[in-house]
Amino acid sequence: LPEQEAFDIEYWLLEEAKLQRMPKPKSLAGRIAFVTGGAGGIGRATVAKLISEGAVVVLADIDKGNLDATLDTFRKSHGEDAVRGVVLDVTDEDGVAKSFVDACVEYGGLDLLVSNAGISSSAPIEDTPIEMWDRNMDILAKGYFLVSREAFRLLKKQKLGGSIVFVASKNGLAASPNASAYCTAKAAEIHLARCLALEGAGEQIRVNVVNPDAVLRGSKIWTGEWREQRAAAYKMKPEELEEHYRQRSMLKRSVFPEDIAEAIYFLLSDLSAKSTGNIINVDAGNAHSFTR
Ligand code: NAD
Repeated sequence: LPEQEAFDIEYWLLEEAKLQRMPKPKSLAGRIAFVTGGAGGIGRATVAKLISEGAVVVLADIDKGNLDATLDTFRKSHGEDAVRGVVLDVTDEDGVAKSFVDACVEYGGLDLLVSNAGISSSAPIEDTPIEMWDRNMDILAKGYFLVSREAFRLLKKQKLGGSIVFVASKNGLAASPNASAYCTAKAAEIHLARCLALEGAGEQIRVNVVNPDAVLRGSKIWTGEWREQRAAAYKMKPEELEEHYRQRSMLKRSVFPEDIAEAIYFLLSDLSAKSTGNIINVDAGNAHSFTR
């Protein structure tokens, strides 16, 4: 090669190598995310993922003790400005409206919502008290409606599009023994997401669903009576449950909060820019549509 040309190539290769070493721009940089149930197992894993991709995250949770502890952990690891917290009961209409306005005043807007706050309960229909039915409908169906309504109001005003993910459940598609209130409320969440996908499409507001199968590790749901109730429903000991779920999956793998967080991230981010009204089941291959 002529001397100048060889020099140019070497120079270009060095520049290229420098570029390769530069930190890649984070995919959610500059985005503001609101995560309900942010102090729970799936919530915390989701917040960690969103922060690592550059988003600023508002964690909303009814459990002040856990919320404060969670905020503390994230502030220590990612800096004071990475997260903000709000004590919120998602069934409280005025509280939900105020927390969205506050978050926006503080950060100047909203781009992403993860509706995730939830509970579980189990009983055969003949032993299901009306309070159990109402509690499931309130926190799950109504709670998801209230946070989505505020998010839509804001996103439509901003005119910048947006992305919403509902953490529903495989039990919203497939019936599970002795959990009619929970399963019905989860089915309502899934159908609400489809309706909102249709309503938001004109404004580029996407709404998608992640359906976890059982995520035993890290989840507070699984530390309470739900574990006993599920074990009773499947006629096994509580300590046998994790292996039961693993074995019934096609991949023979347990599902962890981080697995759910990856699917949520995919649906929130521009990686899924052409998806709305869709569902990702994160169940290691145990979807309702397979006969096994
Ligand atoms: P978790 O109990 O660890 O977290 C749920 C969080 O929601 C808790 O921090 C709780 O304080 C909060 N919360 C409950 N009621 C609230 C309310 N009224 N207002 C605001 N916050 C409230 O459980 P998780 O496993 O992280 O569950 C997250 C979501 O995933 C839930 O919607 C749950 O139904 C769904 N899900 C979980 C599993 C599983 O096996 N863990 C499976 C399928 C679906």
